[in-house]
Amino acid sequence: MSDKLKLIKMSLKENADIAVKKSQDLIEYSDLSLSMASCDKAINEICMEIGKKIYKMYKSGEDNPKKIIEHCEEIKKLEKEKEKIKKKILKLKDKKECRICGTLIDKKAYFCDKCGSKQ
Ligand SMILES: [Zn+2]
Repeated sequence: MSDKLKLIKMSLKENADIAVKKSQDLIEYSDLSLSMASCDKAINEICMEIGKKIYKMYKSGEDNPKKIIEHCEEIKKLEKEKEKIKKKILKLKDKKECRICGTLIDKKAYFCDKCGSKQ
């Protein structure tokens, strides 16, 4: 095989590898987005449950904040899970959040595009 042909074949393979990597990233991104959405859904459901319980407690004059706290702890866990998912998404997109204002900026940026804070 001529050197030129080898080079072309190599670059074709590299491009194919990049394409595969990109589509894997896309799949991972949509998986992460789905997990994020199901966390949000679960949190909303728990919030509804809390609301109902509070009203029930109010109506019956029962005073049992433990029931509510259990639900709140569940939400806290879900929020932590969301934070993990968010970090994965940011990594996938080569982005980070500004330490001050939370705007998405390039992972390698030294300053925030929006507020100008040093990172
Ligand atoms: Zn900022």
